[in-house]
Amino acid sequence: MKWNVAQLLRSPTGTDCRYAFDDEGRQLAGLASGITGSVRLIRTNKGILALARGQASAACTCSRCLDRFEYPARFDIAEEFWPSVDVEDGSRVDEASDAVLTIDERHILDLSKLVAQDILADLPMKPLCAEDCPGICATCGAQLRFRPCECPAGGSDSRWDKLAGIRLEIGGAP
Ligand SMILES: [Zn+2]
Ligand SMILES: [Zn+2]
Repeated sequence: MKWNVAQLLRSPTGTDCRYAFDDEGRQLAGLASGITGSVRLIRTNKGILALARGQASAACTCSRCLDRFEYPARFDIAEEFWPSVDVEDGSRVDEASDAVLTIDERHILDLSKLVAQDILADLPMKPLCAEDCPGICATCGAQLRFRPCECPAGGSDSRWDKLAGIRLEIGGAP
C-alpha cells in the first residue's frame, strides 16, 4: 500500500494515477487480510489527494462467544497528503501536518495507516460471529455454538451456590 509518487509530484495539478489493491494484507498483518479495491492519486497544487475504496476481511472477536471470525469491513478514504521534501531540489517543506498524511523524503506515499484506521472504524461495537450466536454457557464455559452443554437452562451459577453455603454457615437465612 505504498507508492512512489515522485513522478506524480513533478506532474501538473490534476494529473492522476490509478492502482488496484491486490491482497496487500501483509502490511495490515493481524488486523485484516484479503484487501481488494482501488486507489486514485491526484496531484493537487500542494500535495496529492488519495481517493481509495475497497474491502477487507478484518480479524474480529465475537462479543458473545469470544470466537475469532472474519468481518467483511469496508474502507473509503479521501485525504490529501503533503510532501515532506521538495521533489525538485530535496529541500525540506515545512507543512505542519499529520504524520500519517506526510509523503516521506523518498517520495513514498503510504496508505496503510489510513486504511487500518478506516477498517477499525467500520467494525461494529459489539461484533457477533452470527446474528444468533448462542454465546458461552455461564456455568461451564462451553462455546454453545460448537458444544451444547448439559447444564440446566437458567441453572444457578456455581459461584452463588458457594455464597449461599457461606450464608448458611454463619446462621443467616438461606
Ligand atoms: Zn459468537
Ligand atoms: Zn454449561
